[in-house]
Amino acid sequence: MQDTELYQQILGIETPWEVSNVDLNMELGEIVVSVRHAQGTKFCCPQCDQKLSCYDHSPSRRWRHLDSCQFKTMLEASIPRVDCPEHGVKLVQVPWSSPNSRFTLMFEAFAIRLLKATQTIEGARTILRTGWEATWTILERAVERGQARKQSSPLPHIGIDEKSFKKGQNYITLIYDLDNSTVEAISEGHNKEAANECFSQLLPGQIETVEAIAMDMSSAFVNAAKSNIPLAETKIVHDRFYVMKLVNEAVDKVRKQENKRLRSEGDDTLTGTRYLFLKNYDNLKESSQQRLDALFSFKLETGKAWTYKEMLRDLWHHDTAKEAKEFFRWWYRKVIHTRLEPMKKVARTIKTRIDNVVSYCTFSGISNGVAEGINSKIQSIKRRVGGYRNRQNYKTAIFFYCGGLDLDP
Ligand SMILES: [Zn+2]
Repeated sequence: MQDTELYQQILGIETPWEVSNVDLNMELGEIVVSVRHAQGTKFCCPQCDQKLSCYDHSPSRRWRHLDSCQFKTMLEASIPRVDCPEHGVKLVQVPWSSPNSRFTLMFEAFAIRLLKATQTIEGARTILRTGWEATWTILERAVERGQARKQSSPLPHIGIDEKSFKKGQNYITLIYDLDNSTVEAISEGHNKEAANECFSQLLPGQIETVEAIAMDMSSAFVNAAKSNIPLAETKIVHDRFYVMKLVNEAVDKVRKQENKRLRSEGDDTLTGTRYLFLKNYDNLKESSQQRLDALFSFKLETGKAWTYKEMLRDLWHHDTAKEAKEFFRWWYRKVIHTRLEPMKKVARTIKTRIDNVVSYCTFSGISNGVAEGINSKIQSIKRRVGGYRNRQNYKTAIFFYCGGLDLDP
């Protein structure tokens, strides 16, 4: 078998295209495979598919292909142009690459697999021996392709959430598909306009299929849901994840205030105890549990706040909304009679939204685990965000890793 024939098979080159030459450059460690088409071949206009004779050729171009025999392998060809009566002179579409790409489809497909496996641009590009920009372009194009292919599928259970970017100075708003654990829409900011923009990114017909929407208790998201989703007030669920986050923040405020007061009296009992009060008691190490237990003997305000927080967990252990609401009323009365201002404030907030908290009983499809799962996935993308350079890239990376898109070329 001649090397031209061999490469024809390796590269999957089909008629009218054929390999005309294989050039091995030992110094550069590079193989250049030249490809040409048979004389007299007709090509389609890229816009209207009309079959036309070859008008002329572009100057020869190269596409990076998968390495062969550990040599960097380049495909080289001059692309024919056709003169369409309707669309003018156009470059035809070659079967081995997408328009404007410097890589073959097989190379891009492999790069996408590597980007997924290594989870970073840096990791993939080291193996591929490509530049940062070129590698990023492959990822970006994959996302564009995936979004163009996206179909309007039903979204019965969604979540809307915000994420900070770069130390909390910037925010993005996201819509999740809770059934498939995917990110469906992203916009910049975290106000009502950002939420509206997110809803507008859903595909036609999807809004009407929403049965339940999980979110925090911020008025921005509540109002945006009301103006975008029919009968939103009956579909909103402020799930445990968000409610407990607020309560945790209130406990931490109590701890900070108390720590400040104690330290001014020379007492540093509470210094360095933040995580003890924030974590779920059962998830603490035994030594940490003992340390926390010891703190309670000091009759601290923080201990009281913490106890109320732990008590509130039972809110999610009821079968009916009515029972859950009764439990909440009991908890609310207890908290409101304390002097724990941050806890009282959060109790009032929950009270105004209680119907949409206890609605978890009605919507079994809304699972806390999913929102938390997507959250930690996005969090890990954010940790690598230094490699993504800016917010636009961060959004693209989220769609690449969490969009559930069909990314292959
Ligand atoms: Zn045409």
